[in-house]
Amino acid sequence: MQTLIEDSFILSTNLLKKDLRKARDRESTEGTLNIIYDNKPSILDYKVEYSGEETYLDVFFDIEPQRILLSEYELTFGTRTYLTCGCGTRTNALYLKLGFFACRKCQKLNYRSTTINSKSEHGRFLYQQSKRLKLMDMRESIGRIFYKSKYTKRFMRWLKLCDQSGLFKEVKSANDLMIAIDNSK
Ligand SMILES: [Zn+2]
Repeated sequence: MQTLIEDSFILSTNLLKKDLRKARDRESTEGTLNIIYDNKPSILDYKVEYSGEETYLDVFFDIEPQRILLSEYELTFGTRTYLTCGCGTRTNALYLKLGFFACRKCQKLNYRSTTINSKSEHGRFLYQQSKRLKLMDMRESIGRIFYKSKYTKRFMRWLKLCDQSGLFKEVKSANDLMIAIDNSK
C-alpha cells in the first residue's frame, strides 16, 4: 500500500533545466513527460505560466492542474530556479504520490508514520495523529473538489483515505453535500 520514495516519480529541476532557463527569460515553454505512476505508464504535461510577478509551473496529471511556484535565487555563478512545495520549501525535487507533487519531507510523513510501533497505545495514537495531520495537509493541496458537479478523482481518493483513517466526519459531510446537490437537480 505504501509508496516508497525511491519508487515515486521525481520532478526535478535537472529534468526541467531548459524550461526553467526559458522561464527566467519569461519565454513561453511547455512539455510532456512519459512517466511511470502506480506501476503504469502515464503522461504528464506541464506549462510555465506567468502571473504578475510570479512564475508558475502548471502540471497536468490529474483532472485539474497542480500549480507549482518557481522561486529564483541569485547565486554567485548565476541564477537558479527552485520548485516550491505547498509547505513553502524550495527544493530541486518534488515527488509524485497520491496524484500530487510535494517535497520529500511532506511526502515522507506517511512513510515514516508506518515505522511507529502501532501495537502500543501511544504508538497507535501517534500513528493516527500523523496520518490525520497528513490528510488535513493534503486536503489543502487538493484545491477544487468539483468537476462537472461531481467530486474530482483526487478528492474521492482523499475521502477514501479519510475513511480508512477514521476521519468519518469529513466523509459524512462530503456525502451529505453530494446528496443535497443531487436533490437540488
Ligand atoms: Zn513540502
